[in-house]
Amino acid sequence: MPQEISRRALIELSVAGAAALAAAEAKALDRPTLPKDQKIGFAVVGLGKLSQGQIIPGLRTARSARLVALVSGHPDKARRIAAAEGLPDDAIYSYEDYDRIAKDPRIQVVYIVLPNGMHAEYTIRALKAGKHVLCEKPMANSVPECEAMIAAARAANRKLMIAYRCHYEPKNLEAMRRVRSGALGKPRLVVTDMGRQADPSDPSDVWRLDRKLGGDGALADMGIYGINAARYLLNEEPVEVRAWSSTDKQDPRFRTVDDMVCWQFRFPSGAIANGSTSFNYNATMAFELWGEKARLRADPGCFYGGNRLALVSGGNFRELDIAEIDQFAREMDWMADVVRGKAPLVSTGEEGLQDMRLITAIIESAAKGGATIKTDWGYKRAVDPAAVVDVVA
Ligand code: NAD
Repeated sequence: MPQEISRRALIELSVAGAAALAAAEAKALDRPTLPKDQKIGFAVVGLGKLSQGQIIPGLRTARSARLVALVSGHPDKARRIAAAEGLPDDAIYSYEDYDRIAKDPRIQVVYIVLPNGMHAEYTIRALKAGKHVLCEKPMANSVPECEAMIAAARAANRKLMIAYRCHYEPKNLEAMRRVRSGALGKPRLVVTDMGRQADPSDPSDVWRLDRKLGGDGALADMGIYGINAARYLLNEEPVEVRAWSSTDKQDPRFRTVDDMVCWQFRFPSGAIANGSTSFNYNATMAFELWGEKARLRADPGCFYGGNRLALVSGGNFRELDIAEIDQFAREMDWMADVVRGKAPLVSTGEEGLQDMRLITAIIESAAKGGATIKTDWGYKRAVDPAAVVDVVA
């Protein structure tokens, strides 16, 4: 955390002042690209779409993280990617010999990019091998799995981070800061809509439509972004939830998972959040927050790139000009900096567990036709991303 400017002072300043200070502070940060031998070594587990499309490319440009090993069930694919990334053959592991990573000093962080139902097992095995873990969202498929992962990290005295990339994305951070600054007035309402069409001809969606591997369908895959966004925008935790689901059981995609789920969270401040998710509506990752004085609209708000954030007040719609960054590189650099002792852990296992508990409560409410479920479990986020993560990459 940079010392020049206190973050607390920053979030208490006016919005314009805060943005200028954040930019100045980022410039003042000493954040050079580390020499290769000082970068934190990442092993990527699972070489599917996200790993090949975003994670491995992100590691090429990361400042303090680098790719050092691959774990895959497909030796040919692993060898091809290893060759392209300049990795030696002994940096390739299979799922069977995965535990041998314990003896590989090149690997400091293991990044779990497997189907959701495999997150807990492979996270716990990596922690037992003495490695730090960055695990994709959703953290797992159940509350007990999340609890076991947190316990394993504690027992191994290793860091466990959940890959909530929006905690590191400049427009999401700017939205959080504008809410915290008070410039919008008291936050009243958040609306999040996160979904897409699931495609059963795509192997990446086949497991997402299978409860054993994908968990709670669209809610676990896409809705989780809205659950997390409502919480990080408001910086408080819901105390009650009501939910409803609507699934066409004739649609072969939804034999084991729900399709559309809509929910409502009530927060202690009086704010309400309405969320929706679906595997059968047009792709969207949008959120909106109404304050007493102004509104923030992000549409798209959580894509890999091309996100837009606008400030709306009365008839006045002003899109905010905020530079894009590679969210994945930024997130992996953050994990590397946590391991280096240079940054606080923001996206903790407890954050992932809180979302899993809320997913479970949403499912319970929907199964009971919208019954009110109490969700006041006393969780409080340890570190507010808006208070520590820089706006400018
Ligand atoms: P994918 O299906 O493209 O990749 C999964 C990989 O796991 C494949 O290489 C596959 O071969 C391997 N695998 C191993 N055992 C398997 C099994 N039993 N069944 C199916 N595949 C198996 O999926 P993906 O889209 O890369 O998603 C991987 C993880 O990343 C998921 O947890 C997902 O939620 C998460 N994800 C996160 C984001 C984000 O923006 N943070 C985006 C996409 C996916």
